[in-house]
Amino acid sequence: MDYSFTDEQLSIKQNFAHFCQKEIAPRAPLLDRASEEEVQKLIKENIKKLASIGYLGMYHEEEYGGTNVDLISQVIAGEEVAKACASSFLSAGASCGLFGMPLKLFGTPEQKKKYLPGIIAGDLIGAFGLTEPEAGTDAAAIRTTAVKDGNNWILNGSKTFITNGPIADVCLVMAYNDKNAGPGAGVTAFIVEKSAPGFKVGKSFDKCGFRGSPTSEIFLDDCTVPESAVLGEVGRGFIQAMQTLEFGRIGMATVALGIAQACLEEANKYSKERKAFGRPINRYQEISFKLADMMIMIDIARLLIYRAAYARQMHDPEAAVYASCAKLFASESATQIASMAVQVHGGYGYIKEYPVERLYRDAKLGEIGEGTSEIQRVLIARSILAKCAK
Ligand SMILES: Cc1cc2nc3c(=O)[nH]c(=O)nc-3n(C[C@H](O)[C@H](O)[C@H](O)COP(=O)(O)OP(=O)(O)OC[C@H]3O[C@@H](n4cnc5c(N)ncnc54)[C@H](O)[C@@H]3O)c2cc1C
Repeated sequence: MDYSFTDEQLSIKQNFAHFCQKEIAPRAPLLDRASEEEVQKLIKENIKKLASIGYLGMYHEEEYGGTNVDLISQVIAGEEVAKACASSFLSAGASCGLFGMPLKLFGTPEQKKKYLPGIIAGDLIGAFGLTEPEAGTDAAAIRTTAVKDGNNWILNGSKTFITNGPIADVCLVMAYNDKNAGPGAGVTAFIVEKSAPGFKVGKSFDKCGFRGSPTSEIFLDDCTVPESAVLGEVGRGFIQAMQTLEFGRIGMATVALGIAQACLEEANKYSKERKAFGRPINRYQEISFKLADMMIMIDIARLLIYRAAYARQMHDPEAAVYASCAKLFASESATQIASMAVQVHGGYGYIKEYPVERLYRDAKLGEIGEGTSEIQRVLIARSILAKCAK
């Protein structure tokens, strides 16, 4: 087993670290404290900045403007983006990943040609609309409907917690076209442009963390889209969404990793500088052991993420369960690590002037978004039980 990076991966790490610390990190506190209108402007600028170094095209093929690099390279770059600004990671990921990935995997050549170049260039912003007020973990309980009307489809329902909702030009919307067929064959994914009649965006949610990434409800009120808006085939939407979320879990694990790494670096720096009882606080074992524990958890999370990314790339049948393990461990570790980082800062960790205060609030989302910790445990346990049954 070879744990070393290729030259290309090393250069991606260096380039992204340099770019993100210079261009993205200084804007993270601004995004965190900005008004709703300012957030929309600043995050669009950050998405455009990330496009300029090719981040949004890493998932995508050359013919649409991407570089289609391996998944481990994407994780390496993603960690640097998340470390600099978790909100930018989330909004960029919702656009080029949650919207762009199903387009790549299931879209027709016309759909890819129409949307992917804009997404990759950061000129077009995408969103992914699965969750509804009554259907989160239980995604099959969505109530949004799609009814065929001549050459059009009429969508009715609402989506909630949609990352990029307020800034998205186009949103992938999952709706039942045939409730009797069940989720596996009766849900279709539609590419809905914001100009579609009956498409409305709700107010941005006032969130605890990830305040720089706008989130809102979306309303579909006799929303009319052409037949060409169907992603791939009718009736495949739920399976397409679940496959997209398998990639998304590697993404959520990566954002947790970036947050955790930022916490460790901040705690390390602060504990060197802060003195108590005549010594830097990192000379006290209670503090230095926290740094050690943080490092171990980060290393394990990183290895689990690399394993999940590699397995996905190699079409390993265990890839989905590896993604759940990585997401679960990385996100739960990140909340613990963020808490330790605040503790190392004492009272200063509790005020907004210090980045760990924001990182602490941001960390929690990892345990909720793209499948809660509870549901990851359900999936992992189900896989173990299935093996025991053999
Ligand atoms: C900031 C943010 C951004 C988001 N972005 C998007 C997006 O872009 N697109 C999108 O579609 N969605 C998005 N989501 C939604 C997110 O995926 C859901 O919030 C998540 O799946 C949980 O659903 P829920 O909030 O309805 O909680 P619920 O499903 O109501 O869960 C509540 C609690 O019950 C537990 N629970 C539920 N079922 C079970 C079970 N079977 N076994 C054990 N425990 C269970 C859960 O783990 C949780 O602890 C976002 C959410 C947030 C907060």
